[in-house]
Amino acid sequence: MKPPPFTYHAPRDLATALRTLQEVGAGGAGGKVLAGGQSLIPMLNMRLVAPAHLVDINRVAGLGGIGREPGGVRVGALARHAEAERSGAHPLLTRALKLVAHPVIRNRGTVVGSLVHADPAAELPAVLAVLGGSVRVARWQDGAAVERDIPAAAFFTGPMESAVLPGELAVSAWFPSLAPGAGCAFVEVSRRHGDYALAGVCAVVGPAGAARVACVGVGPVPVVVDVSAHAPDWAAAARAVREETEPDDDIHATAAYRRHLVGVLAERALREAAQEAENRGA
Ligand SMILES: Cc1cc2nc3c(=O)[nH]c(=O)nc-3n(C[C@H](O)[C@H](O)[C@H](O)COP(=O)(O)OP(=O)(O)OC[C@H]3O[C@@H](n4cnc5c(N)ncnc54)[C@H](O)[C@@H]3O)c2cc1C
Repeated sequence: MKPPPFTYHAPRDLATALRTLQEVGAGGAGGKVLAGGQSLIPMLNMRLVAPAHLVDINRVAGLGGIGREPGGVRVGALARHAEAERSGAHPLLTRALKLVAHPVIRNRGTVVGSLVHADPAAELPAVLAVLGGSVRVARWQDGAAVERDIPAAAFFTGPMESAVLPGELAVSAWFPSLAPGAGCAFVEVSRRHGDYALAGVCAVVGPAGAARVACVGVGPVPVVVDVSAHAPDWAAAARAVREETEPDDDIHATAAYRRHLVGVLAERALREAAQEAENRGA
């Protein structure tokens, strides 16, 4: 199928991009940002979305890059999955990215685009959520760019819904570093390699037993559970995680299967992360 008609904008600087988004963002079908296009183009072609304007940010200067900063890693809006994976800038991000789709998709898809897209089965929202990261968004207001940081806990508002408002552009994402001596893991089950997961769990375990997981595919947004109280009884922690999830039935799996699966994966992820933390301390 072909996409519905839209007006295409290709700004070359941030101010023009934000001004354009402000002009087309509010009212009617509004505008959409085009980043890697790996989710948006199929949705346009299937006519699941019909924006009147597409604002292609691929030529906007200054939106790329992956920067290690004190306390974490900042990923620019145009940094592709493959670039972030190759950079090895954050161990949990690197592990998660290996599970995202196929190399061809990772060459174009962006980390920030994946966060804004907010698919409940996607890996990167869970990574941002378990680390307590944030997304920086910008809009054009009173003749200048205005930014705000949205913490992960407030960013994912529903399936395929984020707190980014019409007229706003997500300019970067912030992934806090692991605490010294902490370990991490990301495990998932999908029907075929590269498919979206039926369920997945990422875990971070600190040297003093602080332990958090974020679950994928078992709720409308990433399900974050602090299981520090159960450490190091990871079987009990996994039971607690299972209790927190409310998956739905769909054509791929029943809710009961997904709930069982998320418990199995939580225990596996916590054991792997704890082992890594132990090895670091050794
Ligand atoms: C076959 C296939 C398999 C896939 N498998 C997986 C998988 O296993 N796991 C996974 O996580 N993903 C998977 N994906 C999705 C892929 O990771 C996408 O790249 C990602 O979801 C969106 O990133 P993008 O840069 O392509 O965004 P786009 O497709 O360009 O945009 C997606 C949405 O986000 C908005 N958006 C993007 N960037 C910004 C921004 N900077 N500011 C404001 N809004 C923005 C767009 O307007 C649009 O609504 C798969 C895709 C395909 C085609």
